[in-house]
Amino acid sequence: MKSVAIFGGTFNPIHFGHLSIAEEIRTKFNLDKIIFVPTNQPPHKDQSDLVSARQRWLMTHLATVSNPCFEVSTFEIDNGGKSYSIDTIKHFHKHFGDKVKLHFIIGADMLVEIASWKNIGEILKLCRFIVVSRPGYDVQKIFDQYFLASKNMTIASELIGNILVEDVAMFDISSTTIRQKIKEWKSIKYLVPEPVEQFIHNQQLYL
Ligand code: ATP
Ligand code: MG
Repeated sequence: MKSVAIFGGTFNPIHFGHLSIAEEIRTKFNLDKIIFVPTNQPPHKDQSDLVSARQRWLMTHLATVSNPCFEVSTFEIDNGGKSYSIDTIKHFHKHFGDKVKLHFIIGADMLVEIASWKNIGEILKLCRFIVVSRPGYDVQKIFDQYFLASKNMTIASELIGNILVEDVAMFDISSTTIRQKIKEWKSIKYLVPEPVEQFIHNQQLYL
């Protein structure tokens, strides 16, 4: 195995936006594996309509099981408590060692967040960030503003090269809009894989 990407998320629920990004990045970067890592508790989110970690893990499993290059890790769930991507990146770096090229996939909305990480410089030595476009976000502008123009940035310029901005096919889907649709008894067909849709309805999630 030569290169792997970690794809962290709340996956509340997982949707075709997530899956399409993962597959596009996998093929573009010729990655051997994409590891989906559902958070236990996301650090900065409103918890009100968050279903259990087990249910989110199961939906992530159902959505990815048909792709032999997709895996789901319970690392953050097993750890319990709040989940920090930094800990996850360190864990997988240790797990795979220096020979495997490690990537971490994030959507454009998360780029502002990583800019505020105290040890972002250290993290960029361990893995490359792949930042994918997302409707409503000008990813290049955010990148320029937070990583190129900022004067107080302590990241060495060669490490900034480890943040890769990638244009991918854009899907205007979010878990928030899916949860909203369910509350309003609207269809979520073609937004999530069928087994996920069935699981949500059987378990009466997000109502
Ligand atoms: P929520 O609305 O609850 O925040 P979400 O759709 O943003 O859900 P998350 O689980 O928060 O899903 O996202 C996991 C990762 O996938 C994040 O890095 C996020 O930026 C990215 N992502 C999610 N949906 C998209 C999308 N449609 N396009 C690009 N990136 C996305
Ligand atoms: Mg989100």
